[in-house]
This record gives sequence, C-alpha cells and structure tokens, in this order.
Amino acid sequence: MALLLVNDVSLFCEARLARTYKNYYSRKRLEEKKLIVEKTERLTSYKSYLSKGLDASISLIEWTDFNWQMKNSIRTIEAFESFMGITFPKKERRELEKTVKKFPLCITPYYASLIDTENMYNDPIYKQAFPNPAELIISKQDMKDPLHEDKDSPTEGITHRYPDRVLFLISNRCAMYCRHCTRKRKVGDPDHIPSKQQIIAGLDYIRNHTEIRDVLLSGGDALMLPDDYLDWILTELNSMPHVEVVRIGTRTPVVLPYRITDKLVAMLRRHHPIWLNTHFNHPRELTPSARDALSKLADAGIPLGNQSVLLSGVNDCPQIMKKLNQKLVQNRVRPYYLFQCDLSEGLTHFRTSIGKGIEIMESLRGHTSGFAVPTFVIDAPGGGGKIPVMPNYVLSWSTNKMVLRNYEGVITTYQEPDDYKPAKCNLKCLKCNLQLEEDDKAPIGVEKLLADSDKTISLVPKGNLRLVRRKNGNCKEQ
Ligand code: SF4
Repeated sequence: MALLLVNDVSLFCEARLARTYKNYYSRKRLEEKKLIVEKTERLTSYKSYLSKGLDASISLIEWTDFNWQMKNSIRTIEAFESFMGITFPKKERRELEKTVKKFPLCITPYYASLIDTENMYNDPIYKQAFPNPAELIISKQDMKDPLHEDKDSPTEGITHRYPDRVLFLISNRCAMYCRHCTRKRKVGDPDHIPSKQQIIAGLDYIRNHTEIRDVLLSGGDALMLPDDYLDWILTELNSMPHVEVVRIGTRTPVVLPYRITDKLVAMLRRHHPIWLNTHFNHPRELTPSARDALSKLADAGIPLGNQSVLLSGVNDCPQIMKKLNQKLVQNRVRPYYLFQCDLSEGLTHFRTSIGKGIEIMESLRGHTSGFAVPTFVIDAPGGGGKIPVMPNYVLSWSTNKMVLRNYEGVITTYQEPDDYKPAKCNLKCLKCNLQLEEDDKAPIGVEKLLADSDKTISLVPKGNLRLVRRKNGNCKEQ
C-alpha cells in the first residue's frame, strides 16, 4: 500500500514535471515567436528607412539605439523631404518654413518611418509629427499658457495647483515635438532648459511642503534626462517621507520606444512606487517596438496609464478610440484621461467640439470593458484643473428613487434604502466608528457645501453685485 502510494506520488510528480516542461517549451516557443515579430517590425521600420534612399550603412543595432535615433532626428523640412523621398511644392514649403520658425520641428526616424507615404496628408502619424501652416492661425480664444501653469508656479518648474500634488517640469527636451503639444511655448526652447539649480529649488519646495504626497515629473519629457540624473531626482524625492508616490509623464514609448532600455527600467524599479503615464493617440502607434517597451515597464511592476488628446483628423472617431483603448489594456496600460484639446496657441486646427468627445464616451461606456474607458476631461482654461464631462445617465430622481438609463437605452430605476442613516461627520476621524484612525482635513470648494462639518450654504463669486449692494448699505436688512 505504502509502495503504491510512493508510486502514485512519483507518477503524479512526473506528470506535473512533464506538464511544466510542456508549458515551459510552449512559453519558449511563444517568446521566440514574439521575438521574430518584433524583429520583423523593427526591420520593417528600418527597411522603410533604407527604402527611402538613405544611408544604407546604418545597422539594425544603430536603428534600435535611442541615442542614434536622437542624433539623427529630423529637424528640417529638407531632412524630412529626403527621408520621405518627396519634394514639397515651393509655396507649401515657404509656409512650412514659416511654421517651423515659430514652432520647431523634431521627429525621430522611428516615428517618421511609421508614416504611410502613399496617403501622407491623411496620416495620423504625419499630422501629429509634421508642421501644418494652420499652426500660425491664432484664434481669439487662443492663449500662450491656457492652463495658467506659469501663474500657479511658486518656483520655476513647479506648478502647485491641487492641494496634495505638484507638477514638476524637469526637462524641456522631447524625443519629438508633437504638433498638438499644450506646452509648445516651452518645448525645445533653449531659454527653458531647467538648470540643476532650478531642479534643486524645486526639490526644496517639495521638501518644505509636507502636504505634497504626489509628484508628477514631466517636461518636456521626463525620460529624456540621462539615467543617472533622473536617478538622483528620484532618490531625492524618495528621501522625503511625505512624498508617497511619484508619477512620470513620457511620450517615449510612443515616439522613441528604444529609450525604454533594461538599464533605465532597472533604475526606475529601485524607486517604487512609481507610476508612469504615456500618451498614445492612435492604435497605429502601438507597434511591436512600442508594445515591447510597455511590456518591460509593466514587468518591472510600474503601473501604466495613458492620456490621449482628442484631435481633429487624427482620432475623433468612436471606432478609432475604441480600438486604441482596447489595444492599450491588452498591453497592460489603463486608459486614464481623454483630453479635450487645450486652448494653446497653434492648436486651432486640431480642436474638435466637446460634443464629439461625449459621443466617443457614449460609444465606449458599456460597449467595451469598463477599465478600457478613460475619463473625458476639459483642463479648465485659467487653471481650474481637470473637469470631467460625460453623457448624462441620470434621467430623474425622487426622494427614494433614481431613474437611470444604460448604454442600450434601457431605462431603469434604483430604489434607495428607506432606513439609511449616514454617520454625521465632525472630522474627528480618530473617534469615528468607521475607523480611519487619522484626522481628516477640512473640506474645500463644493465639497464643503455637502459636508456636515461646515456651515457654508453658498459659494459666491467675488464682486457679486448683490453682495456689494448689501455691503454698501443699500439694502433694508443688513
Ligand atoms: S512629448 Fe509631450 S511635452 Fe513633448 S512635445 Fe510631445 S506632447 Fe509636448
């Protein structure tokens, strides 16, 4: 009996071993297949580069080296013409030259190689990368700094808008100058290169403001800094006990995926918790090289998010946005925000109506996985922060019933509990039954109109004439 049992166990172990081997080999085959696909894609973009009649001595190793890509960035109209094997008509060229003078041009050979030469003027990659003379049209609602990032800046490079978090601009370099960039005014401008002194001053500001628990490193592109410099900034932030999380904003996985090297990823993972937000706008940008970069970051335990901008002629289509968001989650990237295009100068031709964004949201919610649906936001002109907008799902409401509609148009009711007794909040969390065990901060803004702990009954705009009349004694009752 005992022998039988031993045999059973060894048979079981063998079967398990065989299964493990099988899994191992099928995994290995999958990995090999993946490698071949990646190589093919790199070769495709590389071959498309070679086919454009350029230097055939460039090796695949150079092509996939981000330093080579940066050194060989396309920065002039002529370089673009020779890269694409095209010549712009004289008049168009003159207009393009004027545009580049105001808003400089920089495209990585990798990103340029994704442009479909056959249908260039309609190509979403081309439109995001190559100047358009329409950028020179300044409409009356355009502003240099629509989000008032400079006005909300207590020290150069820091924007302190929300109570517990800051935006820290640590680089003005980008792998590519996106034509729709909201910080066009700064990107690539030598006057805006943050000095080490400036970075130290920014770090000091964060160190001295213990209410800051979340720091967003951006630029430009935060990942355009050398590894050791970024390592230093992250080490400084890690040494501040009140900084709970650091976020990095970068478009390198989209326009320069080779920047996501093993060395960079190994450095980043030493500074957890790090979150990374990238910026894919079109499903065609999720190439095997881009997917490889995302996979390296996700494997290092870095939660990935994506911020897209709604751009006319690029992604203002429910089908494109659905495909983009589905591809993102397939690659372990959570769609985070879909932005209404800002009112920055030079973006008029990219702007859509807000209604287009709501239409897109209507086609996402319920029609695809909930975690593939970003929040559609308007970054408030004047610096009010992000304001979510969405289709209306609440149709009506009574004392104990809400009438809602779903994505199919089904109208339903939610019966609210008759005996719900909310805990009255006096902000003494240490004594509260809900056991937060730390005291909360006083509410602000609209939040305080709802709070039990605050007696405010209305928020009144400064200079309200009715209140001015009261103050001046023009009313009977004071
Ligand atoms: S990478 Fe970001 S900051 Fe840089 S140009 Fe593009 S959108 Fe602007």
